[in-house]
Amino acid sequence: MENVDCIVVGAGLSGLACAQTLLETSNSVLLLELSDVPGGRVATDTIDGFQVDRGFQVYLDSYAEGQRFLNYASLNFGAFEPGALVAHRGRLFPVSDPWRRPFAAIRSVLSGAVSVTDGLRIAWLRSQVLAGVRRGEINPSSISGHGERTTREELVLRGFSSEFIKLFFEPFFGGVFLERNLTTAATVFNFTFAMFSSGRACLPAGGMSAIPQQMAQKLPPGCLQTCASVVRITHAPTGGGEVVLADGRRFCADSIIVSSAAVANPILLPEGISTGWKPPLWKGTRLVAFECEKKPPCGKTLVVSAEPVAVGPIDNLSVPSAVTEGYAPDGKDLIYVSVRGDWEGEDNQLPDAIRQQAEVWFGPDVKLWNHLSTVTVPKALPVETPLSRRQRPRSNYLAPGLFLCGDHLTTSSINGALVAGRLAAEEVLRAV
Ligand SMILES: Cc1cc2nc3c(=O)[nH]c(=O)nc-3n(C[C@H](O)[C@H](O)[C@H](O)COP(=O)(O)OP(=O)(O)OC[C@H]3O[C@@H](n4cnc5c(N)ncnc54)[C@H](O)[C@@H]3O)c2cc1C
Repeated sequence: MENVDCIVVGAGLSGLACAQTLLETSNSVLLLELSDVPGGRVATDTIDGFQVDRGFQVYLDSYAEGQRFLNYASLNFGAFEPGALVAHRGRLFPVSDPWRRPFAAIRSVLSGAVSVTDGLRIAWLRSQVLAGVRRGEINPSSISGHGERTTREELVLRGFSSEFIKLFFEPFFGGVFLERNLTTAATVFNFTFAMFSSGRACLPAGGMSAIPQQMAQKLPPGCLQTCASVVRITHAPTGGGEVVLADGRRFCADSIIVSSAAVANPILLPEGISTGWKPPLWKGTRLVAFECEKKPPCGKTLVVSAEPVAVGPIDNLSVPSAVTEGYAPDGKDLIYVSVRGDWEGEDNQLPDAIRQQAEVWFGPDVKLWNHLSTVTVPKALPVETPLSRRQRPRSNYLAPGLFLCGDHLTTSSINGALVAGRLAAEEVLRAV
């Protein structure tokens, strides 16, 4: 049996951030990951030379925690145009840059369907959330109180017209939160709005998995062990314990930090130790990838659909190969379509249903889009309603020498996962 100072179970972004922080002061850290690669929910598959992310996600370069852990220059980020094209009644309407130019955005939007006062409200929202984040008052990592509102309640309270909520907030933030009812807690919305207002939505060259790969490369040799499925953790009352792998290997450590996504497997924790927390429901998503030779005219701009679900399954559509390099072989382009959660068709119906809906926007070239793959992610984001945020783990400390990390403790985002990893490591270092 091998002895180390600390064992981290799960090499998602949170586990990687935890291991990296521990290594600043600990001699030996072992990071155990059941999959064959690190990254957890941030993953990319190579299909016929295209890089297909496991679910559409973007990195916001305003994330403070990312600035701490990542080397932006070598990730070679490409950025989406700010704003979006909103599909409405078969046409695409530009919402140019609601984050920095709210009035221009409202003027350009949806041919008068939206009141100009929505522009004023966006400007006011923007200045308030930026100030709130700066002063630390809007912090989605904090445990929410009883008075927390949903995103929709917040927007209504702020006086946004129901048309603007339906035509912009529902399709745009429905795609971010993977739910269009906007039941996600307002704190998460306010923070995300501030991040969009102060940064760019980016993709790293070659796919989202470049982010965890960069973090894993910083670890010393032997620290990360992949294909290492932890099946049992035993705990000594005085602290620390033993970790058992599916292949029979055993490791001992003074401190064990378990990713919350791994603890969704209840047999993993030692007997008698409880998180006091029932893992929440998950929100799932599907991504359909197409290849094409002539990219659609949206280029670097995200297309979000405000059309009724009966019109088609598209939640949002993007062309990652137009945003940054490395997503598609030379001379080809890659198209991502995120599928609406409320579209009830089967996977095999998706490519035709998508082409039919997109042809109305982009014309007959869409018929030539070749289906590459359909990725289903049943556990993409934990539900983040005010209620589930009140019920999440209160602390990353479980018992002497036993800790939790993972996005369930903060907020479900790349930033949230990195924060949770760092905070868990700091708790370990305080305890030793
Ligand atoms: C489709 C999708 C879209 C998203 N969009 C965005 C976005 O646009 N912007 C944004 O900021 N965030 C987005 N996110 C959220 C972000 O990716 C996650 O919040 C973050 O990656 C979670 O990291 P984590 O380390 O907490 O958990 P995970 O990534 O789930 O890591 C947990 C790790 O533990 C491992 N594990 C589990 N059980 C065991 C075991 N028994 N033994 C060993 N290892 C184990 C797993 O294999 C996994 O690697 C999105 C996520 C998804 C899936």
